Amino acid sequence: MSLGIYIQVPFCQTKCTYCNFHTGVVSASRFAPYARAVEAEIRNYRERLSGAGVALPEFLNKLKVDTVYFGGGTPSLLEARQLASILDEIRSTFACEFREVTLEADPETVEPAKADAWAAAGINRISFGVQSFSDIELKAAGRMHRRADVYRAVPFLQAAGLANVSFDLIAGLPHQTAETWWNSLRDLIELAPEHVSIYLLEVDEGSRLGAEILQGGIRYAAGSVPTDDAMADFNNTARETLAKSGYGHYEISNFAQPGFESQHNLKYWRREPYLGFGAGAHSFSGPQRWANVHDSAAYVIAVTNGTTPVEQLEPVSESQALEEELFLGLRQLAGIDLDRLQQVYGVALAPRFGSLESSGLIEREGSVVRLAPRHLSVSNEVFVELMR
Ligand code: SF4
Repeated sequence: MSLGIYIQVPFCQTKCTYCNFHTGVVSASRFAPYARAVEAEIRNYRERLSGAGVALPEFLNKLKVDTVYFGGGTPSLLEARQLASILDEIRSTFACEFREVTLEADPETVEPAKADAWAAAGINRISFGVQSFSDIELKAAGRMHRRADVYRAVPFLQAAGLANVSFDLIAGLPHQTAETWWNSLRDLIELAPEHVSIYLLEVDEGSRLGAEILQGGIRYAAGSVPTDDAMADFNNTARETLAKSGYGHYEISNFAQPGFESQHNLKYWRREPYLGFGAGAHSFSGPQRWANVHDSAAYVIAVTNGTTPVEQLEPVSESQALEEELFLGLRQLAGIDLDRLQQVYGVALAPRFGSLESSGLIEREGSVVRLAPRHLSVSNEVFVELMR
C-alpha cells in the first residue's frame, strides 16, 4: 500500500453557473500566501493533526507517497513555481516515489512556459477541464474557455512532454442536444486523450443555475437544461463510443486507455489512505476521516498562527467502513469481492444481493458482484436497496 496526497486550490477565474463549491474568485495576490500556508501545513502536519485529535496509525507513517493530486477550483491558476515549491515540501517531508502527479488545468490557463515548468516540477498528468466542445454550451455554463482554447492548449502540453492527459466532459449542460453531445465526443476521440471522465451535470441548489431552475428565469438558460432521460442517453452514447475507441470503463464516470487509470483516484475508491492539504481538503487514514476549514482566508490565518486548520474529525465505524466498501466497490466496474469482505468484516453479504441479481441489476461471477453495465446509472438505487 502507498499514500496519496491531495492539495486543494480553492480559486477560480469566474464562477460557473451550476457550481456552488467552496471556491472563490480572488485577486492573484492571494495565491502566494495561500501556497506558503499549504507548505507550512505539510511541513508540520504531524503536530497540527495531533493537536486536532487525529491519531495517525503507525502503518501510515511508513508508507511512501506515490500520487499527488492538485485539485480545485483551478489549481493551474497558481504560478508554476508555487506548485513546484509545494511539491518540494512534500518531497522533503515524506518518503516519496512519485508515480503520478496530477494537476487540474483549465484550457485557457495553459501557456507554453507554464506547461514546461509543470513538467520540470514533476507534474506528469493533466486533468484538463474541457467540459464541452460547443461554445454555446461553454458560454451558458459560465466557463472561461472556448473550443479554440482546447486546440490551442493541447500542443503546448504535448510539447512539454505531458503525455498523460485526462479530458472531462459534462453531460447535461444547458443547450446540449444529442447532436452537440455526439460532436463533443467525436472531437474528444480525435484528440485521443489517455483518460476521459464523463460527469452528469449536477446543479447545486445554491448556484445561480440552481436558483433559476427553482424560481424560473432565462439568464442562465435553465429552460435549456436537458432532461434526466436525455442525460442518461448521452451517458450511454459516451460509454458505447468510448468502448469502441479502445477506452476501458473502470469506474462509473471514468474511462482509460490501458494502463492510464488514475492511480490517485483509485485510492479513494479502494479506501486507501490519503492526506489532504489546503482549505476544505479531506483526509482519510482508515480509522478516521477529517476535513479542513473551507474558507481560504480562515485557513491561511489558522496555519500562519501555528494552529490546526482541521474543522471536522470523525471516526469511521466498522459498519460505516462496510457501507463505504459497498458503495465505492459498486462504482468500480471490477466489482466487489464478497469473500474478501466476509473475511475482513465477518458478514455474509451474498444473501443481500439475491433479489438484485434476479432483477438483473447486479451480475455475479464467482464471489465477485458488479453492477450490470446497462444499469450503471442506477447505482445509488442499488446501494439504497442493499442497505435496507
Ligand atoms: S465548476 Fe470548477 S471551475 Fe467552475 S466555479 Fe466550480 S470549481 Fe471553479
